[in-house]
Amino acid sequence: MTTHQSFNPFHMAQTQFDGVAELIDLDDSTKQLLREPLREYSFAIPVRMDSGSTQVFRGFRVQHSDARGPCKGGIRFHPQESLDTVRALAMWMSWKTAVVDIPLGGGKGGVICDPHNLSSREQEQLCRGWVRQIAKNVGPTIDVPAPDVMTSAQHMLWMLDEFEVIHGAKYPGFITGKPVGMGGSLGRKEATGYGVIFTVREALRQLDLRAEDTTASVQGFGNVAQHAIRLFTQLGGTVVCVSSWDQQDQTSYAFVKTDGIDLDQLVAITNSFGGIDKSKAADLGYKVLSGDLWLEQEVDILLPCALENQLNATNVDRIASRVKLIAEGANGPTTPEADQAIKSRNIFLIPDFVANAGGVTCSYFEQVQSNMNYFWEKDEVLDKLDAAMTSAFLSVSDLARKQEIYTRDAAYVIAIDRVARAAQDRGWC
Ligand code: GLU
Repeated sequence: MTTHQSFNPFHMAQTQFDGVAELIDLDDSTKQLLREPLREYSFAIPVRMDSGSTQVFRGFRVQHSDARGPCKGGIRFHPQESLDTVRALAMWMSWKTAVVDIPLGGGKGGVICDPHNLSSREQEQLCRGWVRQIAKNVGPTIDVPAPDVMTSAQHMLWMLDEFEVIHGAKYPGFITGKPVGMGGSLGRKEATGYGVIFTVREALRQLDLRAEDTTASVQGFGNVAQHAIRLFTQLGGTVVCVSSWDQQDQTSYAFVKTDGIDLDQLVAITNSFGGIDKSKAADLGYKVLSGDLWLEQEVDILLPCALENQLNATNVDRIASRVKLIAEGANGPTTPEADQAIKSRNIFLIPDFVANAGGVTCSYFEQVQSNMNYFWEKDEVLDKLDAAMTSAFLSVSDLARKQEIYTRDAAYVIAIDRVARAAQDRGWC
């Protein structure tokens, strides 16, 4: 995966915001309020390790905006986590909940750690420690966490349990992405990846392309990528390349099969963090190439579903000439410099906070079901998700077409306008 010493996701999020604030002539006080987080927390989490020693981890929670409802957003476990990354991700959550028009704000959390190197018991202690440090500043009506990079339903359940022990009652609305049967929603696991493909399906319609005639290359092989591949394949599309991070070699590899990868076969040789076993893949006939070659594949669609800063000034020119559509399953995968190149090549871009909004939309459905204590069938959840994603995508693409602006700018115009209006109507600015 490409990393840049100087890359700062929060500066990137602010640059994107500033450009659109100017475009819509946002007044100064609202601009000041929205270009910084409302509140942020940074704290130490001491964990008694299996060895008997204590290790101190750093945890964060950033609440960017609660003008439209309680803050909402995931918690990431990542060795390169930083406060600025969490700030950017919290801001993007505000735009995400606004663009799909759900009554929530934006927040994000993280812990600097590498769960590859932590036992299950150590991870449980880390989850409980994170909640203990922030228990008074989060909750169903304040700020609602969820899974993100390298966190799962099990982590959410440990966090919920700790929160309920501290507060002495049941609060299933405190956190989403819980296991099904423990307050979780059917379809939540699939929601982000499926949501990406609901928007891809609509974009293909506008490009006058049939999914059956298209190929895709996917960066990442975690939960989002796997479910995106599943639905894209069900629609008749062919995925010819996936890339996955190799923990041992500290680099990523592209796994290529020109007649189409077999998802279940690859999932069977993948660890819980999305790492594919290289030698087993080679035995199964995959071409295994080191580096970010996923973006050079001659495909119609690129699906970056890993981390931020993956399409940037240094590699955007290597995007293959055939690519017509990019749908961002990850948060912040494309830098503003790469955006310029994508725009000038006329590649249709479905921006991150639209393309990957399926997760938080289903989290909202999970909250609704938890509050009613009545759970819906999976089909009902996915139908509602499809309707919400399709409507968000269409409002963005309509505005982009009418105003002849880039799709990312159109999505920002809609989202910033909604958050700004909520803050102004409350009399904050
Ligand atoms: N972590 C996911 C995201 O970035 C989901 C957030 C949520 O469900 O609150 O959108």
